[in-house]
Amino acid sequence: MNPANEQLSPAEKTWQTHETLNELYGVLDLRKPRREPIHELISTMLSHRTTHANEETAYYRMRELFPTWPEVMVAPLEELTQALQTAQYPGPKAINIQKTLRLIQEKAPDFSLHFLEEMSVDEAMKWLMDLPGVGLKTATLLLLFNFHKPVLPVDTHVFRVSQRIGLIGAKVSAEKAHTILLDMLPKEAPLLFNFHKHLYWHGQRICTWKGPKCEECPVCPICNYCQEVRQKGIDKKARNS
Ligand code: SF4
Repeated sequence: MNPANEQLSPAEKTWQTHETLNELYGVLDLRKPRREPIHELISTMLSHRTTHANEETAYYRMRELFPTWPEVMVAPLEELTQALQTAQYPGPKAINIQKTLRLIQEKAPDFSLHFLEEMSVDEAMKWLMDLPGVGLKTATLLLLFNFHKPVLPVDTHVFRVSQRIGLIGAKVSAEKAHTILLDMLPKEAPLLFNFHKHLYWHGQRICTWKGPKCEECPVCPICNYCQEVRQKGIDKKARNS
């Protein structure tokens, strides 16, 4: 193990990871959201265990067959489920989407979701997570991307990369990781947005699930996984010599 790595606290490693990935990928602006809040919410609900391409196909098929949200809300369940076929669990997702739309309509008949802007982070998180099929990841994504609230979404890539580097422990759940990581970072939406996007890209491009490319990763000097793999490689060579 690199001695410098052993001396770093998880908070110091989190900050160093943030700075290293800022250099690797460049600092992004948290500007205009990529999609309307209701679009972001429903798409993220569809994205659970589904590839981005399949999530998009399901979303646009649904909008093609039922162009307005009231139409989606009252669509025959079988037809809505059929429209969402490319997503995993289309039946339960169709039920949750219709229930969620009803609850949104009670609060905002135009489905705009802009009332979330006025809420505190805690209030907005609670309101969203009381919706059926909406978990921590969906709620934090929507609040960070669309309302620039200081929260940190932890998806599968952010979670895996954080665990390998040693920012969170091996037994920490994805749910708990949201709070642990957030507590180690300044509560600033642009910074949290960069941290999320950079770890997400890193997980997709370099620290992939099947084969992390540690030899080309600038985080290696402070990464537990990389240092342990190297150590084992060195030990193996020593044993074989
Ligand atoms: S050094 Fe390897 S395990 Fe660590 S973050 Fe980079 S690719 Fe992932």
